[in-house]
Amino acid sequence: MQEDIDIIIPRSHPRYESLLLRELLVKGWREGIVVTEGLLAHGRGECFDYLIGERSEDFALEAERAAAAALLSAKRPVISVNGNTAALAAESIVALAHEVGALLEVNLFYRTEERAKRIAQVLYKHGAEKVLGVYDATASIPGIHHARGKVSPHGIYVADTVMVPLEDGDRTKALKDMGKLVIAIDLNPLSRTAMTADITIVDNVVRAIPNITRFARQMKRMNRSELRSIVESYDNRKVLSKALRHIAERLKKMASEIELNTYV
Ligand code: ATP
Repeated sequence: MQEDIDIIIPRSHPRYESLLLRELLVKGWREGIVVTEGLLAHGRGECFDYLIGERSEDFALEAERAAAAALLSAKRPVISVNGNTAALAAESIVALAHEVGALLEVNLFYRTEERAKRIAQVLYKHGAEKVLGVYDATASIPGIHHARGKVSPHGIYVADTVMVPLEDGDRTKALKDMGKLVIAIDLNPLSRTAMTADITIVDNVVRAIPNITRFARQMKRMNRSELRSIVESYDNRKVLSKALRHIAERLKKMASEIELNTYV
């Protein structure tokens, strides 16, 4: 894939990384993994990433560390996978699940059986041993009607901790109402998902997942009570506020530099 993309986008292009992600999503869309709405959602994420500076800032790392502690100390951790996540980060999400001992579950806002199967195939291709949510999505999240509420009775339904990269606000709230600890990855610190989750990682999913895996590796020797104390002392409101302040301050600095013609 990388080689195919190199033909379309030269590596020397200043926005190579960002364009590469677009091409991965378009490829996923052509293959029936990503829905058209997913392309639009990516555009919103890209915009926030641009404002953040396309790096994992301190507020993201703090949340990623707490997420690693939460996943490692959970009794039943589940990582939810949708089309965009599969197209952008299948390999790293399988590695994270392996590292923290979490189950992988395909969970789609725009669910079709065909798409769920295709996403599971992508995960299996990258080494997943078991993927829930394809043939066993027989339980329903209370309050979420139709196909978008369908989950596995052995996965998300009974999980105590659920990681939801790129989730919608209603489902995040419904998962919280079920008493679960919810970890969201969302570049928009103002989304309902970001505001509702217990741990909000304001970072691009392609950077966030490997960062969480790295933290989990470093924490492997900690006992459960040490891990829980990291989760309990984590303050999501403060982290969201830091993310918004970072964007605001960065924009102010850039505005001054542009005015003085010192912006590069
Ligand atoms: P909400 O219902 O939570 O308010 P929303 O309606 O703003 O969410 P959705 O379309 O449901 O948005 O979800 C997409 C979210 O995922 C957006 O907030 C977008 O910023 C974020 N997003 C898109 N691409 C990425 C990415 N690569 N990494 C992290 N977040 C992303």
